[in-house]
Amino acid sequence: MVDVWIRWTGRSPTDDFGRYRSRSGARFLAEAAKSTRCPDDVSLPCHVIRAMDGRWFCADCKSGWSVSHTQNVVVAARARSWVGVDVETPKRRNAAFRWLGRVTGVPTIGIEQWTQAEALWKAMGNAARRPATGELQLSPHWAYGWQRSADLAWHIHTATFQGAVWSLAAKDREPVTLHSDPVVD
Ligand SMILES: [Zn+2]
Repeated sequence: MVDVWIRWTGRSPTDDFGRYRSRSGARFLAEAAKSTRCPDDVSLPCHVIRAMDGRWFCADCKSGWSVSHTQNVVVAARARSWVGVDVETPKRRNAAFRWLGRVTGVPTIGIEQWTQAEALWKAMGNAARRPATGELQLSPHWAYGWQRSADLAWHIHTATFQGAVWSLAAKDREPVTLHSDPVVD
């Protein structure tokens, strides 16, 4: 199973302290982890730590974890393999899209492909550097739901939430369980 936690944070503070707006991705990831149970020991939440390459994982069950946020939406994901997640607000980014098209060899026509590329790159543990030509194996035809990377090494899932587009990349294609509000303070 792939678990996804997603929340609309809004443009303005959502509580008296404005804390949703100021929360970092890492904080949201920690909250998501706290709200669940580790498959390795169901009496405990996942114990999420960060690898040297920037990827998050559970020290106990070895599940991969990832988080991404825009101004308005934050998404965290857990999968049995390494996982990468990215969320973006739809808009045209012509120069960035042209660059991604050159790197992938797949013409980039929308933000969906951008999120797929980001999610895949994060899942691969390369977020600290930019991809070289041929390193990002995007499918030539993007789609919502699951699809495979061009080299068949990854599965990528794309969907929308409150006007934002998000993608996750993981090794296995599994049912996606959406948790729209993980926080129990
Ligand atoms: Zn765990």
